[in-house]
Amino acid sequence: MQLESMYQEIILDHYRNPHGRGLREPFEAEVHHVNPTCGDEVTLRVHIENDTAGDPILSDVSYEGMGCSISQASVSAMYDLVVGKPVPEALETGEHFMTLMQSKGDASVAEKLEDELEDAVAFAGVSKYPARIKCALMSWMALKDASARALSAAHPTTTPGGAEA
Ligand code: ZN
Repeated sequence: MQLESMYQEIILDHYRNPHGRGLREPFEAEVHHVNPTCGDEVTLRVHIENDTAGDPILSDVSYEGMGCSISQASVSAMYDLVVGKPVPEALETGEHFMTLMQSKGDASVAEKLEDELEDAVAFAGVSKYPARIKCALMSWMALKDASARALSAAHPTTTPGGAEA
């Protein structure tokens, strides 16, 4: 199978059967990002928990979205890549995805990032179409935004108590 059609197959598969879709609780931050040039939208929540070493781990990334197949498949592939990872590592993966999107279809870039990006490397072909790059990047921007908000808001949770008289 041609690489290009294999990539298309992966994207369509994520689009048809999105991984981790749905908004879940608990979460520390929720963001809504839009890509007006294409009409794509995503609402994304992050749930961050500290591991035993005190490092923030992305315990869950939940989302709802609508729009083109690239935008919706991208968030599904991202979900697979980042859930369970330490936040800095997940954001670094996002940087690598950004590099892929700037590769203008250079196959050697995709090859180098293949192990790191897993299914997300299938978006390599998108980098040839400047108008579609934003579709693929939207979910990663949302993740970066939500993670930053969650971490800056991080403080010991005080339960309101729910004392309704
Ligand atoms: Zn789009």
